[in-house]
Amino acid sequence: MNMNKNIKDFKNISFLVKVIVRGLFFFIFPAAYSSAFSGAKYAVSRISSGEPIELNPFVMILIGLLAFTILFGRYFCGFACAFGTYGDVLYEISVRVRKKFKKKPFAFSIESGLWLKYGKYICAVALLALCYFGKESIIGKISPWTVFSRLEALSLPDKGNIIGVFIFLALSILMLFEKRFFCRFLCPMGAIFAIMPVFPPSQLGRNRSRCFGKCKQCINVCPANITITDTTCDENGEADIPEIPIQLGDSSMGECFACGKCVESCPANNIKSVTILKEYKGLMWIVIKGAVLAVLLYFLMF
Ligand code: SF4
Ligand code: SF4
Repeated sequence: MNMNKNIKDFKNISFLVKVIVRGLFFFIFPAAYSSAFSGAKYAVSRISSGEPIELNPFVMILIGLLAFTILFGRYFCGFACAFGTYGDVLYEISVRVRKKFKKKPFAFSIESGLWLKYGKYICAVALLALCYFGKESIIGKISPWTVFSRLEALSLPDKGNIIGVFIFLALSILMLFEKRFFCRFLCPMGAIFAIMPVFPPSQLGRNRSRCFGKCKQCINVCPANITITDTTCDENGEADIPEIPIQLGDSSMGECFACGKCVESCPANNIKSVTILKEYKGLMWIVIKGAVLAVLLYFLMF
């Protein structure tokens, strides 16, 4: 009874902490993701014109977020990106509505997710190619991010961005039905983050031999349906951090949003990471990483 109460209390506190962290990033740094992508677009345009890349604020934000991602994984996507938070809120609403009406949740199969995730790399290459060939203005006319930024600032989207409005609406509908639809399958900035190597202590690993039977709890709760990389055991039977930092398979850590849901939900406490820990230490890490990222973005953006 007492244990159940402790678990319930922890879940409530964890939910509250995550809502506060995400809410603060949403309202204080709503443009961080679009600024970082502007840095990438600018860099590609300069490469195409043969001019040196200056360290303007957009490039600095891009460099700052990439460095942060190498150190801590995609915490930015997991907790700090305004568009990612918007998608998660939509999905959460749809889950609750479907529960109320006793409707089964819709979800792509894990196999289709494995293929669809390459969509974001195609998007990134296509958009950066437009910049390379001097057609960057097209992006402004079709960008759902621009529409979102305008709405977030409580302004109406530009009339010239009608295609962007349609894309934004289509994405919003898709994000209602599939968790992290945009982030996993279409986000060009997500594609750039996903190819970053992740510092080993921030990677996840599990010792499959210690799992409870055929338990798939970690895959089921994961917003990216990731199968955690199996690790080898050392002589004490302890799981090591995976030796291969990035795999293009299902366990690719580049696809991991560093949200910690798998670690929190594992009944065997079997998923290892130094910077995503279970229970209150895990929450503490979320707050510490959030504070580091907030300070970084504050100096880069203001
Ligand atoms: S994948 Fe893209 S939209 Fe999703 S959280 Fe990351 S930067 Fe934001
Ligand atoms: S549930 Fe685990 S593997 Fe999946 S995104 Fe979150 S931290 Fe990464």
